Amino acid sequence: MDIEQFRKAGYQAIDRICDYYYSLQGRAVTSQVEPGYLRKALPALAPTSGEDFQEIADDYQKLIIPGLTHWQHPSFFAYFPTACTFEGMLGDLYASSACNPGFNWSCSPACTELEAVVMDWAAQLIGLHSTFLNTSEVGGGVMQTSASDSALTAVVAARSRYIRENPNARMEDLVLYTTTQTHSLGLKAGLVLGLACRALEVTAENSFGLRGDTLRAALEEDIAAGKKPFILIATVGTTSSGAFDYIEELGRVASDYASLWLHVDGAWAGVSMACPEFREICHLEAINRYADSFCTNFHKWGLTNFDASTLWVRDRKDLTDALDVTPEFLRTKHGDAGTVIDYRNWHLGLGRRFRSLKLWFVLRSYGVEGFQKYIRQSVQLNETFVSMIRSSPQFTLVAPPSLALTVFRLEPQTTKQPLSAELLNNLNRLFYGRISARNDILLTQTVLNGTFCIRFAIGAARTTEEHIKQAFDILSAEAE
Ligand code: PLP
Repeated sequence: MDIEQFRKAGYQAIDRICDYYYSLQGRAVTSQVEPGYLRKALPALAPTSGEDFQEIADDYQKLIIPGLTHWQHPSFFAYFPTACTFEGMLGDLYASSACNPGFNWSCSPACTELEAVVMDWAAQLIGLHSTFLNTSEVGGGVMQTSASDSALTAVVAARSRYIRENPNARMEDLVLYTTTQTHSLGLKAGLVLGLACRALEVTAENSFGLRGDTLRAALEEDIAAGKKPFILIATVGTTSSGAFDYIEELGRVASDYASLWLHVDGAWAGVSMACPEFREICHLEAINRYADSFCTNFHKWGLTNFDASTLWVRDRKDLTDALDVTPEFLRTKHGDAGTVIDYRNWHLGLGRRFRSLKLWFVLRSYGVEGFQKYIRQSVQLNETFVSMIRSSPQFTLVAPPSLALTVFRLEPQTTKQPLSAELLNNLNRLFYGRISARNDILLTQTVLNGTFCIRFAIGAARTTEEHIKQAFDILSAEAE
C-alpha cells in the first residue's frame, strides 16, 4: 500500500468505524458466533500472493465484527467496562504511525518525555503526592500494558530490594501476600516468579477489605516459621465487589516491617480519585503516606483505549536496580550520563508502545473537569441502579455499593420459610443463566464467601439513565 492508497483506505476505515459506533445501540451486546467460526471461514495458510486491501477491509466487516463482544455498547455492564474514546483511538493511530519501540530516550525523545509529563499530569489528576512525580527525580511514573504487568513489575522490584537488604535470604522463603479478593494478578505474579503466595482471609463484616491485624498476625506467624514476607499487594476497589483494603492500617503494619513493600492495586477505582469526593473512600492519604507503588488503569474507567496501565513508584531506583540490564548495544551518551529516563529499565520488556500519546489526547480533550464529570456520571447512574435494587422486593445487595459497581442477587421475599443458602445459590445460578443467555445486556457473576451473586458495573461511555432503567426492567422480568 502506498501513501495515497493509505489515505483512501484510512478515510474509509474512519467512515466505517463511525458507522459502527452509530450502529452500536441497535446491536446485540454479545457475539452470536459459535467457537471455531473464524477458522472455518479463513484459509489455513496466509495467501501466497498479496490481496487487494479493499477485500481485506471488507472481510473485517464481514468476519470480524460478528465475532466481537461490543464492550462500548451502552448495555455492557460486565467485568469493568472499558470506556474508550475517539481521542484515544486517534492517539493510538498516531502512535502506530510513529512506529518506534521507545525503549531508550534517544529512540525518540518525544516518546519518553511525553510519558514522563503525562504520568505527572495523571498523578496530579488523582491526587498522588509529589514524591510520585517524575519531576521529583526520586519517584516516578511509567505506563505499562496492564495492571498485571504493573503488579509483576512491582513484585520484581520488591524482591530485588528485599534480596539487596537481606543478602542471605533464600528465594524459597520469600512470601508474597494478597487477599482472597485480590485480582488473579497476585497469584500469577507468584506463579511466574516461583514465589510463595499467601492469600489472607477477608470477611463480609469488614466489607471484604483487609485489616491491619489480619496482616500482622500472618506476618508474625510466617516470620516465626522462618519465612520472609517481602510484599503485600493490597487493593482499592476489588474486582468482585469493589472492596477497599484498609490501607492506613496496612501501611502502619508494613512500616513496622521495614522490608515489606506495599503495592496498591487501584486498577479500576484509582481513576475515580480525579474527583476529590472519592479520595477518602480510595484511601488516598494512606496511599500517599505508605505505598511503595500504586497502579491504576486508564484503560478501564479512564476514557483511554487499552492499553494504558499507569504505575507509580516512590523510588525509581527500586525499578532500575532490579531491571537495568545494559549491554553495549543499548548504551547511549545520555543514558550513561544519567540525564534522561530510559524506560526500558522501568518495565519487563525492552521495546514499548507509545502509550502516553492517547492519554495526552484524552486528558487535553476532556480536561480535568470533563474527566471528573464522566466519573461522577457513572457513580450517579450506579446510585440510580442501587435505589432500584433497594426498592425491589426481588433483589438484595450482597456487598455495599462501590462507586460504579453494585453486587446483588435475587432473594425473593417469601411469607413461607426462608430459603436455604444452597437453594438461594441455585436460584441465582439459574437467574444468572437466564441473564447471560440474553444478548441485549451483559453482566458477570462472582462468588463472595460462598454466596453466588451478580455484578453490575457501569462505565461504558455511552451508558445513560435510560439504559440503566432498561437493564433493571430486564433483570426484574427475568427474576419474575
Ligand atoms: N486489578 C483489579 C482490581 C481488576 O479489577 C482488574 C481487572 O478487572 C485487574 C487488576 C487486571 O487488570 P489488567 O487486565 O490490566 O491486568
